[in-house]
Amino acid sequence: MSQRPDVRPRRIAVLSVHTSPLAQPGTGDAGGMNVYVLQTARQLAARGTEVEIFTRATSSHLPPVQQAAPGVLVRNVVAGPFEGLDKYDLPTQLCPFAAEVLREEARQQPGYYDLIHSHYWLSGQVGWLAKERWRVPLVHTAHTLAAVKNAALAAGDLPEPKTREIGEKQVIEQSDRLVANTADEAAQLVDLYAAAPGRIDIVPPGADLTRYSPGAKAAARAELGLPVHEKIVAFVGRIQPLKAPDVLVAAAAEVLRRDPGALRVLIVGGPSGTGLERPDALIELARALGIADSVTFLPPQPPDRLVQVYRAADLVAVPSYNESFGLVAIEAQASGTPVLAADVGGLGTAVRDGESGLLVPGHRIPDWADALTYLFADPERLRRMGRRAEAHAANFSWAHTADGLLASYSAAIDSYRVDHDLSRALGERVSLERALGEGGQAR
Ligand code: UDP
Repeated sequence: MSQRPDVRPRRIAVLSVHTSPLAQPGTGDAGGMNVYVLQTARQLAARGTEVEIFTRATSSHLPPVQQAAPGVLVRNVVAGPFEGLDKYDLPTQLCPFAAEVLREEARQQPGYYDLIHSHYWLSGQVGWLAKERWRVPLVHTAHTLAAVKNAALAAGDLPEPKTREIGEKQVIEQSDRLVANTADEAAQLVDLYAAAPGRIDIVPPGADLTRYSPGAKAAARAELGLPVHEKIVAFVGRIQPLKAPDVLVAAAAEVLRRDPGALRVLIVGGPSGTGLERPDALIELARALGIADSVTFLPPQPPDRLVQVYRAADLVAVPSYNESFGLVAIEAQASGTPVLAADVGGLGTAVRDGESGLLVPGHRIPDWADALTYLFADPERLRRMGRRAEAHAANFSWAHTADGLLASYSAAIDSYRVDHDLSRALGERVSLERALGEGGQAR
């Protein structure tokens, strides 16, 4: 990957069609991608690259433009109805969205954006069109891939439609560079989507290490109204089948059957997606398993309260069926709390097995119950893991991510120029040959 500072973009268009970086993450369609887009934009702007983020307006109260941070604008594009449009219906609104993105550039001087970075395949489709029009490179981050998600579906979850996979393949083919969170994701892009390995940059996401840091457990519990003396395992994130909060609840029920009062489960987040999507469904599950009194629910929390959740917990569980990275795992570790995670996707990178937490292969309830019992059996070992977790998380900062993105952008701009100079030269040669062929000599 080239790191030439001379090809650093002055201003980029970031496309985040289906979810706004200003939305509260942890419910609906808002999660790690929102955090990623906003945090990297801040870091890029601080390094001198202005960022304009285009997202679909989901309320009539939103102004057309919002300043999210110095050098970072969010453009709320009107495309389709503000409310009630399902993520799966969004492909029908890509045309009006793209039209507004193109119109915005037309209002400015030519060459206003040096590069486009699209997030998720829907944005990639818009980026593909804008790239052709503006003659600038397109960098794409998939965040999740349909083929990967469909290969490990949770019970009750619906498979991603074939059309998404087709759309993803097109975007991957059209992008100048692809950003993958981990080496695993890079391999999936190559194996499942035929991406050229030389066009992929591996750039791990981060956590806001100034916000997520260790702190007093007792004070955090007091702030959240949680009991001081219980062992607490927390789940943080969107409540949807893919995230498998039900696996944690069922495993906790098994532990509590063996040892009543052994732990409390704290679930933080709001509904999202299909199937086991409602906190109500989890409440019903806890009731059916006879552990309703040992499960506490909190709605989605803003970052300054979320850090207290991580500090209050003795352990954070991430039992997802698939996770391209898992920001919650890094945030928890940065707050000094070990993580018990499923051994899937990026979680193998986010958690150091046996050091900063534990990775569990598969989702068998007895395995998860055993892992909980093992970790809670030795409080000193758990505290040691917490210290290692903090050290491990220190490797993942948004500053580091932004540096990786800038290197990817430089490489994209470089290769784009080379390709275009080459095709222009080829074009000139073809017209010269034609002219020579037709008239016997150049005119
Ligand atoms: N989050 C939050 N408040 C909540 C729950 C989650 O701000 O109540 C944020 C959390 O800090 C994390 C993101 O939502 O940055 C979830 O990202 P992750 O990669 O873990 O999962 P995703 O939502 O991308 O599947």
